[in-house]
Amino acid sequence: MTQYAKSPLMGQMMDQPLLISTIIKHADRYYGSNEIVSRRVEGDIHRYTYRECHTRSRRMANALAKLGVKIGDRVATLAWNGYRHLELYYAISGSGAVMHTINPRLHPDQIAYIANHAEDLYLFFDMTFLPLVEAFHSKCATVKGYVMMCDRERMPAETKIPNLMCYEDLIEANSDDFEWPVFDENSASSLCYTSGTTGNPKGALYSHRSTVLHSYASAMPDALNVSSRDTVLPVVPMFHVNAWGLPYSVPLTGAKLVFPGPALDGKSVYELFESEQVTFSAGVPTVWLGLLTHVSQNNLKFSSFKRTVIGGSACPPAMMKTFRHQYGVEVVHAWGMTEMSPLGTACTLQKSHLDLPEDEKQAILEKQGHAIFGVDMKIVDDAGEELPWDGKTYGNLLVRGPWVISKYFKGEGGDVLENGWFPTGDVAVISPDGYMQITDRSKDVIKSGGEWIGSIDLENIAMAHPAVQQAACIGVFHPKWDERPLLVVVKKPGVEVGKEELIHFYDGKIAKWWTPDDVVFVDALPIGATGKVLKNCIRDQYKEYKLPTA
Ligand code: ADP
Repeated sequence: MTQYAKSPLMGQMMDQPLLISTIIKHADRYYGSNEIVSRRVEGDIHRYTYRECHTRSRRMANALAKLGVKIGDRVATLAWNGYRHLELYYAISGSGAVMHTINPRLHPDQIAYIANHAEDLYLFFDMTFLPLVEAFHSKCATVKGYVMMCDRERMPAETKIPNLMCYEDLIEANSDDFEWPVFDENSASSLCYTSGTTGNPKGALYSHRSTVLHSYASAMPDALNVSSRDTVLPVVPMFHVNAWGLPYSVPLTGAKLVFPGPALDGKSVYELFESEQVTFSAGVPTVWLGLLTHVSQNNLKFSSFKRTVIGGSACPPAMMKTFRHQYGVEVVHAWGMTEMSPLGTACTLQKSHLDLPEDEKQAILEKQGHAIFGVDMKIVDDAGEELPWDGKTYGNLLVRGPWVISKYFKGEGGDVLENGWFPTGDVAVISPDGYMQITDRSKDVIKSGGEWIGSIDLENIAMAHPAVQQAACIGVFHPKWDERPLLVVVKKPGVEVGKEELIHFYDGKIAKWWTPDDVVFVDALPIGATGKVLKNCIRDQYKEYKLPTA
């Protein structure tokens, strides 16, 4: 860790470590009767309070201690968003061990790689994942025992999984008489691996300090804006960058929490929104596509839903407009990454924007927004020279801050920082007033005749066409220009549209030479483990594609 200069006159405030356990203690003390509602893997709806969550977390902390889990040990989970998963967030990290959330959508070999790399000591899993655990457990050398997150009746009669325990038995067998230990706030608290679209997954190891600071900052009004009056349904999974920090920031504010469990289809999510009167939610665009399709096909409205954060990939402006104008739901476009805990920027309007015409407000809201306080950002050219914030010049986006990684777990990938800044791999422009807009991931940029074409812009335009459900734009080989854009489109069900019409749809909306050279129609786009369109798969698929202009 960097050593900073020491003043001869130090401040005289208490040196209290920022610890994750203090969040659940606070939620219990001040919002103890506020609810946590979960759609369970068992199929029913479970409800209890922050007080009960805290009690059961302490019981689980005692169970972990008896299992021999010590400060710094890694304990893994393979689980949906639900109350038992939340209990583990606090029991594991609160005890000083490291909560290692694994993405169950990864290939079993990748899961085994991650568990071995992390040297996980125990693995907790939801019933849904019993077959998955059966498929990979024999490859996990360090795991001493497995815990199925259910009650005794639902435990399998027979299994090859060694030392398989029952979650509710552990809760039952242990008392809630547990004092959260106090330790250095820079101790590791949780571990999350990047999805490994390029090479093996790498671990981002968060600390108690980084997590608590991220929770404060992300709850602020111009970020996620969560308060005790909200009812929050995190659609973003707790196995993907800690559900964007919501399992910490929501209890910190005392808001009611609603967990969707495994049922992430539009109908199930909508039902929960209405029955629990959800006011705020968060997720990647592909999930909202399912919800919006269900709502529009069935002529439904939202009776309580006010605000949603959309990030993880660019939110198509058409989706934002539908939410805002058709359903009265405010969209906060946010940007971040696993390496940033994840929140980096959020887009909200300032006072000076409020009287602008609607289209100008919309244009601001479509950007990824301002850095939230604590995150520092800049754009640089390939030589590392800083570029101006003029809204036109695009460059590589670099960040730093107390919740940005300094290195990957076990030093994978070597020294990743560039003069103390983390290179995000994203390409962006920043306006003079500090609003950042991602034009692309550097590896997705289309390089045509020595110039760059941002694929996100091309996709956003296509998705504004009434017949287009989803679109991805990739660069394919062109003998003269190196690469030219190819648009890959999923049509809305029952709607027809031709290539020519889509190509003409770009007229007047972008520079002529940015227009895709061709369009292909497909039934579905490949979606990765974190709900994002896998551009690298599409590129592989169309590697040999012959453009009509070639
Ligand atoms: P992975 O890298 O494994 O996909 P992350 O969820 O950490 O996992 O992905 C971070 C990346 O997602 C960012 O670097 C950026 O490319 C993309 N991203 C996140 N939010 C946005 C957004 N609002 N707009 C455009 N891209 C985004």
